[in-house]
Amino acid sequence: MSAEREAPGEDSIRVVCRFRPLNDAEERAGSKFIVKFPPGNDDQCVNLGGKVYMFDKVFKPNASQEKVYNEAAKSIVKDVLMGYNGTIFAYGQTSSGKTHTMEGVMGDPHLQGIIPRIVNDIFNHIYGMEENLEFHIKVSYFEIYMDKIRDLMDVSKVNLSVHEDKNRIPYVKGVTERFVTSPEEVFEVIEEGKANRHIAVTNMNEHSSRSHSVFLINVKQENMENQKKLSGKLYLVDLAGSEKVSKTGAEGTVLDEAKNINKSLSALGNVISALADGNKSHIPYRDSKLTRILQESLGGNARTTIVTCCSPASFNESETKTTLDFGRRAKTIKNAVTVNEELTAEEWKRRYEKEKEKATRYKAKLEKAEAELNRWRAGESVGQEEQVNLRDPMDVSTVSVDLTPVAPVAPVLAAAPAAPLARADLDAERERLYQQLDDKDEEINQQSQLVEKLKEQMMEQEELISATRRDYESLQQEMNRISAENESAKEEAKEVLQALEELAVNYDQKSQEVEAKNRDNESISEELAKQQSTLNTIMSELAQVKDSSAHQRRKLNDLLTSLFKDLNEMGIAFGADLKPSLQPFDPNSTKSEEEFAMARIYVSKMKSEVKNLVQRCQTLESTQGECSKKVDESERELVDLRLLISQHEAKMKALQENMKEVENKKRQLEETVDSLNEECAKLKAAEQMQAVSTIDKAAEQEQALLIKGALEQQLDQHREAHQKQVATLRDEITEKQTVIEDLRDSKRELTLIHEQLVRDFDRLKLEESDKSHKLQELLTANERREQARQDLKASFIFFLHLVTFKNLNVLFSQGLEETVAKELQTLHNLRKLFVQDLQSRVKKSLSGEEPEDGGGSLAQKQKISFLENNLDQLTKVHKQLVRDNADLRCELPKLEKRLRATMERVKVLEAALKEAKEGAMRDRKRYQYEVDRIKEAVRQKNLARRGHAAQIAKPIRAGQHPHQAANQPPAISTPSAVVVPKRILTPGAQQRTDS
Ligand code: ADP
Ligand code: MG
Repeated sequence: MSAEREAPGEDSIRVVCRFRPLNDAEERAGSKFIVKFPPGNDDQCVNLGGKVYMFDKVFKPNASQEKVYNEAAKSIVKDVLMGYNGTIFAYGQTSSGKTHTMEGVMGDPHLQGIIPRIVNDIFNHIYGMEENLEFHIKVSYFEIYMDKIRDLMDVSKVNLSVHEDKNRIPYVKGVTERFVTSPEEVFEVIEEGKANRHIAVTNMNEHSSRSHSVFLINVKQENMENQKKLSGKLYLVDLAGSEKVSKTGAEGTVLDEAKNINKSLSALGNVISALADGNKSHIPYRDSKLTRILQESLGGNARTTIVTCCSPASFNESETKTTLDFGRRAKTIKNAVTVNEELTAEEWKRRYEKEKEKATRYKAKLEKAEAELNRWRAGESVGQEEQVNLRDPMDVSTVSVDLTPVAPVAPVLAAAPAAPLARADLDAERERLYQQLDDKDEEINQQSQLVEKLKEQMMEQEELISATRRDYESLQQEMNRISAENESAKEEAKEVLQALEELAVNYDQKSQEVEAKNRDNESISEELAKQQSTLNTIMSELAQVKDSSAHQRRKLNDLLTSLFKDLNEMGIAFGADLKPSLQPFDPNSTKSEEEFAMARIYVSKMKSEVKNLVQRCQTLESTQGECSKKVDESERELVDLRLLISQHEAKMKALQENMKEVENKKRQLEETVDSLNEECAKLKAAEQMQAVSTIDKAAEQEQALLIKGALEQQLDQHREAHQKQVATLRDEITEKQTVIEDLRDSKRELTLIHEQLVRDFDRLKLEESDKSHKLQELLTANERREQARQDLKASFIFFLHLVTFKNLNVLFSQGLEETVAKELQTLHNLRKLFVQDLQSRVKKSLSGEEPEDGGGSLAQKQKISFLENNLDQLTKVHKQLVRDNADLRCELPKLEKRLRATMERVKVLEAALKEAKEGAMRDRKRYQYEVDRIKEAVRQKNLARRGHAAQIAKPIRAGQHPHQAANQPPAISTPSAVVVPKRILTPGAQQRTDS
């Protein structure tokens, strides 16, 4: 494939100039803004120190990124998509705004620089183009530092070489090319490259000011209809700072670096000067890699824009001047720009026809010329008009088209002039030397890559060696430890062997014993068989019993539930927290053990309650005693009071008698008064009679008067005495009556008290009887509970016996397990029955009911006794077994201890062995891994010599929506556009595609 250039169009390099604002440092240093922008002139002039510079565009400090892009870079997008090469590079001293101009703030719509804007624009253009165009876009990103090209997409490529393709166009050989289908992918590449750049260097600022970063976008398009192919390369270069070394204050190696960098920049200056001088005989592109890469951009086939970035500060005046001079010189350079078009077969054919025609014409002409020459040689003279016209203009134009690549041409004519021959020789020699130089470059590149890889490998190997050494040491230690352990283990093994021998002897004994035991066991098993048969009969009986018991159970259940209810109530009455444990009794429940346990808990709670009750009873008894004492006392008091009452009654009787006597006396006295009154009346009558017979009887009268007076006196005396006596008697009576009243009152009181006491006594008696009754009740309840508890205990013990028996049986003979299990099941059932029976009995005894069906309980009793007998037999067997077991067990611990020690030792040894093995495995793996890695590295190296890994082309189509393109895998186009599937291109092929 070869590209042909159409008639090249002359195109000067565009140079724009951008001034940034004064920065903080400059303002702080008091620098002045020294540039002037003369008005008018379409922003193309700048005045520095009185000198006016003209550029294609001058951007003032306030020019926005967008403005700079639109006016300096935007047109290049179309050019590139039309098949032209393009270059934009930023030149200027450090911190003059080169990176700001080229990259800006990525992702910021206002502050992003030229590169992101161009990338977005390219894709937007493509999306707006005809549908039958297919694009392949690939990008590369590298930097040039100290004249070494470092791939920013692959850090292992540290010194890439520049080669020329067959069209003599230089390219960076082996640089990573990434196919991209969207701006985002491009930005990812840039980010990745930047990250790699940061990783490789310590001081990024310094590094970026001393290295050139180159971002290359390669756009290829193919018209799917006429197979017309166009390609355009766009170099976006952020150059190193153009300042003089002295200004950076660099020293030593840094100085060397700076010189080297400045060397590449000065090479750039030289190239531009040579181009500007018009002396195109030799342009020193080969002085540096930078100039070689930019060869096409400077004086070659490319539309080039140089952005010179300047500081407006007085401090930087000289640098700004140098920059402006550089720009001015560059502006004079003329490039010859052509479209990079790849010809189709049709066109090639046409061209071939044309050339063929030309060749025939040449042939004819040559024949004419030869004929003329022959005539001349023959001594003829040929006339002017007959001579072949060698200055034919057609001939000149045809000569200029030379399809054969330039190659050393051997001189054909000895008579040819010497100077052009020597020149051709020299050119050829130079070409050869250049070729050699390129080859050497390539070799250097390969060697340096190899060196990098080897260095890495060395480091890894060293690490590996140190790791291995460490491992070896640790393994040695481990070995020592293990061998020591091995020794001790050997000794232990000996001991263990001895012990094992002993054990073997013991084992023989034991096996004999075991045989004996087995025999015993057989007899026991026979016995068991017998038992089994009996059990079977029992089972059948049991079935009958079950029927009866089911009925009983129901009853029992009712009873138990009522009992539990009672207990519950009792619990509630006790106020203790027994309630939660009580559940209604469920005879069908299989969780009898649980229930028993519950019941046990309940009973124990009850016990504690009963204890409480007994205590309370005791206190009640003591209070009762006190009460009875009190009652006795009150009785005694009552007796005393009764005595008192009887005394008082006697007294009253005496007093009444007294009163009667006094009454009698009174009556007597009244009778005497009456008799005396009668006598008086008699005497009056007698007086009257005597009055009749008075005169004679005056003496007598007087006498009678005297007598009368004496009598009256006597009477009065009597009366007085009588009255006195009556008064005293009356007094006495009233006295007595008051006494009687008092006594009566006291008597009434006493009777009241007595009644009260009697009532109290009755009440106390009643209380006492009540209490004693209650006590009696509690005692009976307690007894009942005690009884129930004992029963439960008995059943529990029975159960335990059974369990131990079962365990022993299991221990003794595995074969018997099943039968024993069955037996146990039956026993368990029997136990249940037994327990139920017990419960029913308890219930009955508690409720004081008469046994309802005496026949049933009798049968049960018989069964129980039978079962008890069975139990006894079993217990005997069990005891025998336990004894045997104990004998065996006595010796067991000793042997077990030994065995355990041995086992532990063996385990420890095993673990140590395992560890050692694992360590060895790990080491082996690591070695294996290392070997694999080295192998892989060697393979990679070989591969690198042969060529690089394949890459997948990501064709994108014009007319596709960006989102669609982003959402769909880029290689798969819409159905109408499925033309080019994923293509696998080898880098060699890729590199040649654009040539
Ligand atoms: P260089 O790449 O030439 O060394 P930078 O692009 O890194 O310089 O710019 C140095 C500083 O000046 C940065 O902080 C940048 O943001 C600022 N700067 C450069 N040019 C402009 C401008 N035109 N407007 C505003 N700030 C700028
Ligand atoms: Mg920079």
